[in-house]
Amino acid sequence: MQFREISGNNELKQKMMEIADSGKMSHSIMLVEQPGCGAIGLATALVQYMACPNRIPGKDSCGVCPTCKKIARGFHQDLHYVFPVNSSPLSAQKSDPKQISRYFAEPFRELLSTNPYFTESDLYSHLQIEEKSGNINVAQAKEILAQLSLKSYEGFNKYMIVWLPERMNEEAANRLLKIVEEPSPGTYFIFITHTPEKVLQTIRSRTLMMKVFGIEPKLISEELCQRFGITENDAAIYARASGGSVGKAIKLCKEAEEGSIFYPIVQRLIQCRISRDLPGMLECTDSIVDLGRERQKEFCRYLTGFYRKILMEGIGLHSICDTLPNEQPIVTQACKVLSRTTIQKSVTAIEEATSDIESNANSKIAFCHLVNLLYTV
Ligand SMILES: [Zn+2]
Repeated sequence: MQFREISGNNELKQKMMEIADSGKMSHSIMLVEQPGCGAIGLATALVQYMACPNRIPGKDSCGVCPTCKKIARGFHQDLHYVFPVNSSPLSAQKSDPKQISRYFAEPFRELLSTNPYFTESDLYSHLQIEEKSGNINVAQAKEILAQLSLKSYEGFNKYMIVWLPERMNEEAANRLLKIVEEPSPGTYFIFITHTPEKVLQTIRSRTLMMKVFGIEPKLISEELCQRFGITENDAAIYARASGGSVGKAIKLCKEAEEGSIFYPIVQRLIQCRISRDLPGMLECTDSIVDLGRERQKEFCRYLTGFYRKILMEGIGLHSICDTLPNEQPIVTQACKVLSRTTIQKSVTAIEEATSDIESNANSKIAFCHLVNLLYTV
């Protein structure tokens, strides 16, 4: 993967190349990004730049030499990716039941090559492990140490890209501490975090932090037009709604394209709320429970966003509420019926349900309770 394949962050790319060219690359870097801004693509492009024997200084890796090709295909033996996983049919098939990234290498490569802006939920759904949150456990930490203790295959550097170190448990982090603090010569760690404050301080303090910025709407629009062949007008709406995250914009586009998984449920829920049909609302909880826990959290975020759109539409802020074309009819209908107070109380109820789901409450009970509140407020 080359730098030019990742949208935006030109200054950061330049800075990365300058440090690499100066020969003073830090052995532990931490890229801090909002989800979906392409940090994993930038990390891969940086490794490719450092490893490419024919790189063009200050411009990019060559993209055509055997090293570049191996990295681009995800098959370079000195570049390892570590990311949160959990038990799944994929890992259960192996004789060794440990839950480590290596067992998911193939779907991971596929996701990275098609969408270097993927979010955490994109990853879990692509690995088919969306029922539970993932983590980086002590078995994974041991594997990292084992991989780094081997001689480099290509005789040069070894690179470890760790996606979401905030998902690492304390025992795993402690195992890695020494090697992050004093990596052997030629070993480079690139951590990518969405919540730096949740990364163990001991790891964080030993890295060089670099901020990955949100992407300008114009660049996001271009990316969407290219990927989905949609009109510039539609692309601009998704780009604005994404808040600078290409990953989120891609997801919005896909959801709209696939008719959105959440929209039909939300549409029915709100229609039943408008017509004061509690049994109808309660029926929606089955569809929500069937989504699985990770998607349930996303559903809550989507529902909160939807109520906010109704609120903004109701107070005449249509131009900035980023309602997607397919959502418009129900938003228009709901803002005439639901009062501002009702919407605000509904949002509070959804936020409470989200935190219940995050703390592993029974989802059927949590969503039935939520629906009752949405009906009564
Ligand atoms: Zn090259």
